[in-house]
Amino acid sequence: MDAFILESLPGRVVFGPGTLDRLAQEIEQLDAKRALVLSTPQQEALAQDIARRLGERCAGIFPRAIMHVPVEIAHAAREEADRLDADCLVAAGGGSTIGRGKAIALHSSLPILAIPTTYAGSEMTPIYGLTEAGLKKTGRDPRVLPKTVIYDPNLTLGLPLGMSITSGFNAIAHAVEALYSDQPNPITAMIAEEGIRALALGMPRIAKNPLDHDGRSECLYGAWLCGSVLATSGMALHHKLCHALGGTWNLPHSETHTIVLPHVVAYNYNAAFEAMRRIERAMDTSDAATGIFDLMMRLNAPVALKDIGMRHDDLERAASLVMQSPYYNPRHTTRESILHLLDNAFFGRRPAVASATDVTREAAAASRAP
Ligand code: NAD
Repeated sequence: MDAFILESLPGRVVFGPGTLDRLAQEIEQLDAKRALVLSTPQQEALAQDIARRLGERCAGIFPRAIMHVPVEIAHAAREEADRLDADCLVAAGGGSTIGRGKAIALHSSLPILAIPTTYAGSEMTPIYGLTEAGLKKTGRDPRVLPKTVIYDPNLTLGLPLGMSITSGFNAIAHAVEALYSDQPNPITAMIAEEGIRALALGMPRIAKNPLDHDGRSECLYGAWLCGSVLATSGMALHHKLCHALGGTWNLPHSETHTIVLPHVVAYNYNAAFEAMRRIERAMDTSDAATGIFDLMMRLNAPVALKDIGMRHDDLERAASLVMQSPYYNPRHTTRESILHLLDNAFFGRRPAVASATDVTREAAAASRAP
């Protein structure tokens, strides 16, 4: 076995149907007396329910979270937390709401209690993102990692089916990139594989019946595992592409992740042998890239960037943005290779894997380059 370093992160996880009933105890455990409850406008009813459960320990509600955490809204939320003299943040919702909590915690160090209702996984990570002047910037800071996470699958029963499926693929994307990260270790790999397995099992169940409780539990469990490996591993080409497309063209987050994923997996296929075998085992398929694509088709997920608001004329700029500050990736990238990948994702073509010979030749050329 190769040597490795693994830095596990702190955090308390309360998992299971009905665990929202433990909210008051969990807030007490954090010793919080003035919690500010965050939600999107669409989930304000959930925020109201949480406020009611908190009673005197609730300082107020801020129901204004929106996607990609625009810097202006982050400032407004911080001012509200100050004005109410909040000593804790309860973020109930998807990644956008939890991201709002992180934007406040980054400056105030207030503890976050997260109650995720999608599969995005932000609640497990010390990663924050802010969008300013059309560019999404991400960073890591231990202050933004939630102290407590309540995973109650009952809260996901109402997540619309389309969003459930794309959010599930968003989670799988975290595990895929953790598997070929530049800081590999067997523990993260084991968790990532189990996360993919749980989602690949749960998603078809909820596609058949969105109220399938076991399917919902399986998906949320998978989302937890996938979020936790995102937290401890680096991100690669897939996340870089999605950050560029989401931050600059405001494309919907989970749909973008879903569409791009099989193309990045095909691109990296022959440069990440172990990772691909684990994905194939977890999904019970003989080809990780087409296995993901076929599951997307079976679950009626979107497959083409052209169908979610991207313009073909913008692909060149997207490829340039990715190459301006590339992330680590197991296979060498060029502006042309990124453009080719984006073109495939734009039209929703079935992914085709590059030959192992091409990948070896390319790596040799890259190492000779000045
Ligand atoms: P989201 O939080 O934007 O939610 C999308 C919509 O679904 C919202 O209107 C929300 O109110 C609604 N919704 C959420 N759960 C629901 C439920 N159970 N029932 C009904 N409606 C529900 O979507 P998301 O995909 O969870 O999050 C996307 C954001 O999260 C992006 O900004 C992304 O960058 C960020 N993110 C961050 C990390 C991280 O580690 N920092 C990880 C993943 C995602």
